[in-house]
Amino acid sequence: MTPEQGTLEDPDVVVIGGGVVGLFCAQQLRRRGAGVTVLERGALGGSQSCSSGNTGFVGTHGAAPLAAPDMLALAEPGATDPDSPWYIEPREDAGLARWLGHFRQACSAEAAAHGFRVLIGMKRRGLAILRELCAAEDMAALLESPGIVLAFKTATGFDEAARSVARTVAGGVPLRVLGPGELDELAPKTTFDIHGALYNPEGAYLHVPEFLLEFGRVLREAGVEIREHTDVTDFEIRDRNIVRLSTTRGELRPGAVVIAAGAWSTECARMAGTDLVLQPIQGHSLTMGLPPSAPGLPVLLSEAKVAMVPLGDRLRIGGQLALTGMNREVSEHRLEALRRAVHEFLPELEETPILERWSGLRPCTPDSLPLIGPAGDLRNLLVAAGHGHIGMGLAPAGGELIAQLLAGEQPFTDPIPLRPNRFRIA
Ligand SMILES: Cc1cc2nc3c(=O)[nH]c(=O)nc-3n(C[C@H](O)[C@H](O)[C@H](O)COP(=O)(O)OP(=O)(O)OC[C@H]3O[C@@H](n4cnc5c(N)ncnc54)[C@H](O)[C@@H]3O)c2cc1C
Repeated sequence: MTPEQGTLEDPDVVVIGGGVVGLFCAQQLRRRGAGVTVLERGALGGSQSCSSGNTGFVGTHGAAPLAAPDMLALAEPGATDPDSPWYIEPREDAGLARWLGHFRQACSAEAAAHGFRVLIGMKRRGLAILRELCAAEDMAALLESPGIVLAFKTATGFDEAARSVARTVAGGVPLRVLGPGELDELAPKTTFDIHGALYNPEGAYLHVPEFLLEFGRVLREAGVEIREHTDVTDFEIRDRNIVRLSTTRGELRPGAVVIAAGAWSTECARMAGTDLVLQPIQGHSLTMGLPPSAPGLPVLLSEAKVAMVPLGDRLRIGGQLALTGMNREVSEHRLEALRRAVHEFLPELEETPILERWSGLRPCTPDSLPLIGPAGDLRNLLVAAGHGHIGMGLAPAGGELIAQLLAGEQPFTDPIPLRPNRFRIA
């Protein structure tokens, strides 16, 4: 099976990376009859994976690319201070400079609108796949669909967002302004100190890392082999084919290889002589015991770009977009900035003990569209990476597209805007 031939003659596919993207590639390939092995350097659902400590939003909210006209002024290293929600560390890095060049190009209104259309299509498809999976596999408790509140602290922020509601609705997202009293009905125990709020009834979220662990169990039962603590260290290439993979636990000779290694996809692809335009964007989250006055549904603290999500008896708060290289170190400073934002929007929320401090690396492309499809000159290599700030929501559809490309099926979406080498031409 090769992407060029588009058949499933040799069903032996190795997926590198056991985050949400790798697992959905494995699911969709297995569904089509392929023998699939997932190789994961850590433990499934372990803290190294960006998929493990995030806020898990998978509804129709959040499909806008990060690059947008108002981000142009912020696309310079050092343009904001290090604690702000968006930060680019000044440093000598040719890869970052190249990425920023493409990011600036993607900041046009046309590019942002095109990106939104592609991403909302993938998110909708992804939500349908997730709903089917969770219903069929007794995982319904791990996918909740109570809608999402977008809270605005300032009049400027709220007015601007309210003005864009009609455009968002026209784009297929059922957003509306909450009238007086409606927020109290949605979150009766919570006191907000905000100017106004919007609501998207299609807000849904996954409980992570529990979802990853359960999904891993389901995949193993379906015949997918998942090898944890197995690091891919080298590729042997002959006649434009990967003929052997070296790992810390032996060698494999797969028919095809899918790189789904999140922020590490760049170093993985480099082993195959392929260059990906991808930057890690660090985020933080903290998980605490559920305060009595916490909202019972997800809330986005819009100006602060901080998300809050109730996870049973816990509350997770996540956010921060920091281009600081491959740095996963948890910063107390940044966690403090998250707590400050929560205090500004919900001043009466009780402090409860912090159970978990986490940071993860979002694998981000300049235009926020993932890299999905054949990469470089190799016949049996595909990439599924770059799912960025909305990878939980994009992964199911991305996995389906990878499997369709390998199986030679009609893809559910046009794969051209997602092709991994698109930045070479730009
Ligand atoms: C604070 C925060 C909040 C977020 N909130 C949301 C949200 O609400 N909704 C949403 O949709 N998205 C959200 N995201 C983004 C989302 O988490 C990511 O897009 C997604 O997890 C990326 O998944 P992935 O599988 O590509 O990468 P990962 O989950 O990082 O998986 C890649 C895996 O590959 C493994 N690997 C790497 N190299 C090798 C190798 N050589 N050999 C073997 N294994 C290897 C790694 O160990 C890793 O486990 C958030 C991110 C952050 C940081």
